[in-house]
Amino acid sequence: MNLILFGPPGAGKGTQAKILQDEHALVQLSTGDMLRAAVAAGTELGKKCKAIMDSGDLVPDEVVVGIIAERLEKPDCAQGAVFDGFPRTVGQAQALDTMLASKGKKIDGVVELKVNDEILVGRIVQRNQETGGTRADDNPETLRKRLVVYHQNTAPLLDFYAKAGKLKSVDGMAPIPQVSQEIQTVLKGWTEAGGGRFVR
Ligand code: ADP
Repeated sequence: MNLILFGPPGAGKGTQAKILQDEHALVQLSTGDMLRAAVAAGTELGKKCKAIMDSGDLVPDEVVVGIIAERLEKPDCAQGAVFDGFPRTVGQAQALDTMLASKGKKIDGVVELKVNDEILVGRIVQRNQETGGTRADDNPETLRKRLVVYHQNTAPLLDFYAKAGKLKSVDGMAPIPQVSQEIQTVLKGWTEAGGGRFVR
């Protein structure tokens, strides 16, 4: 099964993707984590992306599509994946559909974590304090830029997936266990609707 966790920066996609990874045989694919690993390792790709990420902009579609294409070839993705932070543009979503189709697969569902912008700012400030500022883009100024980019480039994808009949939304402002529970309910619904074996 291939799922997308969708939502603005700080919505809790990473937290919920990890829970899904632990509870189901689904691999978390976070382009943000992969890009940060490339930056930390000092690869050519990392060098190319660092300044863009620090500014809150999106790295070019071909970069992230290339990373995901390579990652999807690994055997651990055969069971399915939870995409976290990807796709972020309509171009990325189309590329993902093409990549999966070439393997006889598809996106089975998209779960949106709904969180108000003001709450996101508070969460990012808190995350920045907790991590001791390890993420250069976790500051209020860059977050505002990331939110603008989200609303301009990424939020239109909601329509893309809604039209495909794949979108469900949950309240991302509820406590973490409750959000997990709501996601679980969505997955069960899809399973019962014949969408496949979402729940182990
Ligand atoms: P967030 O906490 O904002 O969801 P991520 O960890 O997903 O952050 O991503 C951090 C940064 O990495 C983004 O602001 C962007 O510069 C870059 N990035 C991550 N995923 C993508 C993507 N799919 N397309 C373009 N840029 C991306």
